Amino acid sequence: MSQRLRIALQKSGRLADKSLELVESAGLRVVKGANELLYRIENAPIDVLRVRDDDIPTFVADGVADFGIVGLNVLAERSSEGERAPEEVMRLGFGRCALKIAAPESFRYEGPHSLDGVRIATSYPGVLRRFLDEHGVGAEIVKMRGAVEVAPRLKLSQVVCDLVSTGATLEANGLAAVETVLESEAVLIRGRRALDPELQRNAESFVDRVGGVVASRGAKYVMMNAPRSALPQISAILPGAGAPTVTPLAGRDDAVAVHAVCQESVFWETLERLKGAGASAILVLPIEKMM
Ligand code: ATP
Ligand code: ZN
Repeated sequence: MSQRLRIALQKSGRLADKSLELVESAGLRVVKGANELLYRIENAPIDVLRVRDDDIPTFVADGVADFGIVGLNVLAERSSEGERAPEEVMRLGFGRCALKIAAPESFRYEGPHSLDGVRIATSYPGVLRRFLDEHGVGAEIVKMRGAVEVAPRLKLSQVVCDLVSTGATLEANGLAAVETVLESEAVLIRGRRALDPELQRNAESFVDRVGGVVASRGAKYVMMNAPRSALPQISAILPGAGAPTVTPLAGRDDAVAVHAVCQESVFWETLERLKGAGASAILVLPIEKMM
């Protein structure tokens, strides 16, 4: 029997639902069995390990899992510890947040040098240390496992370095973000075992499928008729499109049909500009799959 590919996903938490959805969108049918720790994929030799996000880089690096989905923040912290870090395969476009320095209003922040000699509480000591070193700043890092935002009130630190998406938690604690240390989103990571000849085909197909889902999100197929003379202008308006496909229209020498895959959002304003350039019968279609 050939080996099964193992993918580590967060069991519960901010990345859990979207990670599983991504796997399902890649055409993998997840069987949620009695075993809470392991889901099987029905239509491919793949198992899903359901674990805490902090364990994912270690599992992937140690070959317990072949792939994982984890926040770039967690991966970066692991890499900063100088441990064997798994390879980042691609960014996945969800779980966006940023690791930021946040300070009380009374703190005067004029740039990284304002942190010289300051105590900073964080759950990301490695990433923060790298940032401080890059800016030649000597600060004291207070490592906390959670609830970092309360540290200034408890006089454990003057400022914090914490994950932020909306900033509401900071605000509720009288803090405001003053500096971005790391922009983060969910990433697909790969371990070395995925490159073994026995698993390689299965692994490549998984990466291709996930890549297809990520690429097709937000992408649109745009079709229109246009005067031949307007082609350069129309190509320039189409957002994130490569060279469009141009085909003749029956019985008309002056006009063509233009088809293009747009990687970026197509807004009403874009359609108005296309119309202004002479395009007609403009259609925007969703793309289900792309490879
Ligand atoms: P676990 O129980 O798996 O250890 P956790 O509590 O450590 O979970 P979550 O809060 O579920 O982790 O966050 C998982 C990831 O979601 C973070 O590492 C980060 O990449 C991302 N994320 C997105 N937005 C935010 C946010 N506002 N705050 C914290 N993390 C966020
Ligand atoms: Zn965690």
